[in-house]
Amino acid sequence: MPRPIEALIHTEALAHNLGRARAQAPNARVWAVVKANAYGHGIERAYPGLRAADGFALLDLAEAERLRALDWRGPILLLEGVFEPRDLELCSRLKLWHAVHCEQQIDWLAMHKTHEPHRVFLKLNSGMNRLGFAPAAFRAAYARLDALPQVDEIGLMTHFSDADAPRLGADGIAHQLAAFEAAAEGLAGERTVANSAATLRHAARTANDWVRAGIMSYGGVPDFPEHDAAHWDLKPAMTLRSKIIGVQPLQPGDTVGYGSAFTAERAMRIGIVACGYADGYPRHAPTGTPVLVDGARTRTLGRVSMDMLAVDLGELPASGFGSEVTLWGEGPRGARLPIDEVAHAAGTIGYELMCAVAPRVPMRSDGNA
Ligand SMILES: *Cc1c(COP(=O)(O)O)cnc(C)c1O
Repeated sequence: MPRPIEALIHTEALAHNLGRARAQAPNARVWAVVKANAYGHGIERAYPGLRAADGFALLDLAEAERLRALDWRGPILLLEGVFEPRDLELCSRLKLWHAVHCEQQIDWLAMHKTHEPHRVFLKLNSGMNRLGFAPAAFRAAYARLDALPQVDEIGLMTHFSDADAPRLGADGIAHQLAAFEAAAEGLAGERTVANSAATLRHAARTANDWVRAGIMSYGGVPDFPEHDAAHWDLKPAMTLRSKIIGVQPLQPGDTVGYGSAFTAERAMRIGIVACGYADGYPRHAPTGTPVLVDGARTRTLGRVSMDMLAVDLGELPASGFGSEVTLWGEGPRGARLPIDEVAHAAGTIGYELMCAVAPRVPMRSDGNA
């Protein structure tokens, strides 16, 4: 008998969330961003729910190959472009579109031998200072690409640092959008600037030819806790669930787990859940992190250990050994625990939790698209 923990991927939720990106940006095409193995959901498991996308965006060439192996014939965009010259051969063979963010990538293209001219997206560093050409170098880079026989179409892209919330003393996306519009003015090509946060919060200004829907496709909220999944009408694409494998009655003064980080003030019952940080549950989740037992909301107690964590059964007399525990996602009887709430309690973001589910957790799709 394997441990009772498992992760379920909800095909219908993925399709619903992708539809939300479309509804926000009805005149744009939608990239489903499936980097990091579809944000931990698994490319193959997520694909049935996301196949209505206009394209898939990711970073890893091996992941692009997996999408082609699923028989996806449409656009695939490498968001960071190629990492070495021979990657361009795979781009030619698999018809991958790729970002071009630095001079080296143009040098490599210029030396690349291909009968299949490439479609590229030239990336502007509009202020995030991660990847991309500086505004002053953007037009020269465009002209270089435009002169290459290896390139047939050039799109234009940038990425926002603060689409989820205005930074104190700054203006959110306005300065980056202005930099992009100035740099792109008069240049032919499709535009893409919006991530999930921009698609949800600033679609009127940012939904151009393509939007790049990452976290929202999985039902995660980029601007939690200002807004939650219900506000944006997003559904969890992943449920992490397990069972109670032990019950302990506590007397006042009894403590729970390593470091005795929780002390009972009164007599109570606790449940021990087969889920720990080696499953990807955040070790930093403190006492009080929300969790569902038999669909009812309760809290974690004490430190998360490698394979187990403790939950409060004080208000749940009918629950105990064998009860179903929802760490995040969809619980029994319509109960739901957004991953964002768990992440927030643990001082991180839903993105990190969904990407971190450990390989030892069996993961499967519920498969009804
Ligand atoms: C990851 C990524 C996205 C998607 O971001 P979300 O916040 O998950 O929507 C969009 N664009 C680029 C360039 C990215 O790297």
